[in-house]
Amino acid sequence: MNIHFWGATVEVTGSMTFLDLPDGLVMIDCGLAQGLPEVEKINLMPLPYPVSEIKAVIITHAHLDHSGYLPRLVKKGFRGTIFCTPATAKLMRIILLDSAKLNEDGFYEVEDVEQTLHQVKTHEWDEKFDILGAWASFFPAGHILGASSVLIKSQGKRIVFSGDLGRNDDPILPPLAPCPKADIVIMESTYGGKVRSGNLEQELHSFLVKVARESRVGIIASFAVARGQTLLTLIHDFYERHPEEKVRVVMDSPMMKEANKVYQQYAHLTKFKEDLYSALDDVDSIDFQKEWTSLSHKSGPLIILSSSGMLSGGRIARHLYNWREDKRAILFLPGYQGVGTPGRSMQEGKRQLLSPTGEIFEWTGEVLSSEAFSSHADQNGLLNWIETNNKDSKVFLLHGEPSSKVALQNKLKETGLNQVELPSRGSSFAL
Ligand SMILES: [Zn+2]
Repeated sequence: MNIHFWGATVEVTGSMTFLDLPDGLVMIDCGLAQGLPEVEKINLMPLPYPVSEIKAVIITHAHLDHSGYLPRLVKKGFRGTIFCTPATAKLMRIILLDSAKLNEDGFYEVEDVEQTLHQVKTHEWDEKFDILGAWASFFPAGHILGASSVLIKSQGKRIVFSGDLGRNDDPILPPLAPCPKADIVIMESTYGGKVRSGNLEQELHSFLVKVARESRVGIIASFAVARGQTLLTLIHDFYERHPEEKVRVVMDSPMMKEANKVYQQYAHLTKFKEDLYSALDDVDSIDFQKEWTSLSHKSGPLIILSSSGMLSGGRIARHLYNWREDKRAILFLPGYQGVGTPGRSMQEGKRQLLSPTGEIFEWTGEVLSSEAFSSHADQNGLLNWIETNNKDSKVFLLHGEPSSKVALQNKLKETGLNQVELPSRGSSFAL
């Protein structure tokens, strides 16, 4: 049995790994490379195998860098089964349809997404399913709703793919399941070199209090899926406990609204259970132009939640442009801002942004950012995940900057895990 590494080896995104099972080739995750233009060029490279040889795909979670290449694979003729959990299938629908709309160069179309969704077969966590002469099962990985790691058993070997691993102290998702005993573990290492500091709830609360007590306009840049639901839940929870601080909260993202519905449908998978329903309903939504027109004349206290999370497109631009001259307005950037994104340049102290019509303007308000908002395990989380059951496993690290991978490799060696590889794009190993 061979494993063939492809995506997320040199880059952090574009997860794609191939494993040859007894009855054919399976691809584990099928993600888009995202980021700077030179990184995104990877999406146009040919795959290492003809599409006709790929018989099935396993998707660990809905994020675009794990599922976003699927419609392209389907457009190229892939007609095999795509396995994932039910919640992942629902979120993937939202994410892939949005991606099809953003891809204007014919990379894939809405019809390719529809066809992709027809090929999906879902399995709950811990449910064994047959796949190409082997069996597999998903287990919880935290991170975002439905996110899973996957255990594959083939030819007497147990192989685990971590997918993206969440944090044990995630505000709305329960802790992840530890890695089961395995001969081979392929794991992510995004924060392999970092122990997280900062308190996410505290940083959000001080922002909310500032907006309320000083009657300011606060604009939060959020990803529509997962981050949006976490923020809305935390805001609602804070207001329940501190009704005196409550101000109007407006969500301006149709995609976030749709993702809210999926989170509500699968509320039983979150820590809040049925309380998540009310939390995600406790927000005004901008659905029509007239709502936006009336909001645009308002002053604080007011909180607006909009996308994109890194200010690269989306409806947030109209809010920033509208309140650009309000020196008391606050832009809150919760979470990592990618290199080359407008969000990153704001963090670095630059203040130029693009309006919805493409004109450059200056943001004169305050900018707050928090590194504490991350849906990934930090170094300690990653070590705890693998250490419990796997002192003798062979480990391959993916999904990390080179320095993160090396840092995690060293830490794993300190704990007695000596067989830790950092595979490169195109490298393959016999298992
Ligand atoms: Zn992810």
